[in-house]
Amino acid sequence: MKSYRRIWQIIIAFALIMANGEWLTANGQKVICHRGFWDTPGSAQNSIAALVKADSIGAYGSEFDVWMTADGELVVNHDKVYKGFNMETSTFEQVRTIHLDNGEKLPTLDEYLTKGKELKIRLVLEMKSLSDFNREDECVAKIVRKLKHYDLLDRTDIIAFSINACLAFKKLLPDTKIYYLDNDYTPCKLKSLGFAGLDYEQNVMKQHSAWTQEAHDLGLEVNVWTVNDNEALQYFINQGVDYITTNKPVELQNLLKKK
Ligand code: MG
Repeated sequence: MKSYRRIWQIIIAFALIMANGEWLTANGQKVICHRGFWDTPGSAQNSIAALVKADSIGAYGSEFDVWMTADGELVVNHDKVYKGFNMETSTFEQVRTIHLDNGEKLPTLDEYLTKGKELKIRLVLEMKSLSDFNREDECVAKIVRKLKHYDLLDRTDIIAFSINACLAFKKLLPDTKIYYLDNDYTPCKLKSLGFAGLDYEQNVMKQHSAWTQEAHDLGLEVNVWTVNDNEALQYFINQGVDYITTNKPVELQNLLKKK
């Protein structure tokens, strides 16, 4: 009888430890690598290597940018014009001639998602604003099809500056977390549109220092970009934002360990 009681005590203690661990994870502030972890040897912004390296350091998420070429193909890159090619007006064949600074070919979204599927890291997909809303709607539909095809919806957050793109994603993916990037909507407005939260530039979040609490009171999450120096990283750690998007993920991880 006594030994049964002892076993139960151990089971309950173990469950409490697990529950506490879960709670800590759920409430911990999370590191998002901006364009992957690229500020390290062998990497480059928005490269497959940057995604793999972000995963290898145990970052929570890796952000990357998606464009649609003139002939409707989805590619991963940040700049509208990169190495002499405009992402929107060039064909897929043309942009595929581009090599990133680490020697990789400019990746397709298919390549990015194929690699992402093999990893554990959360994907933070930014769709770039396109030249007209029809092209944006087409791009949104294609991204949604890809995420479904690779069965990655549960591990992907969507971000965009275009409110048109955010709303189009929301219609097609009502259960996916969508964050607006363009700094000009209040937490209250974002809540009314059904988004998961705000993902705003650091100076805007400093000017509106009450927005983090306001967002949390509404059940929204807060991401801030792109925070790189230690003083600013510490400021946003103290603010209690949920995610910090950074080019310095290892430095941020070290600051979070000291918390
Ligand atoms: Mg981006």
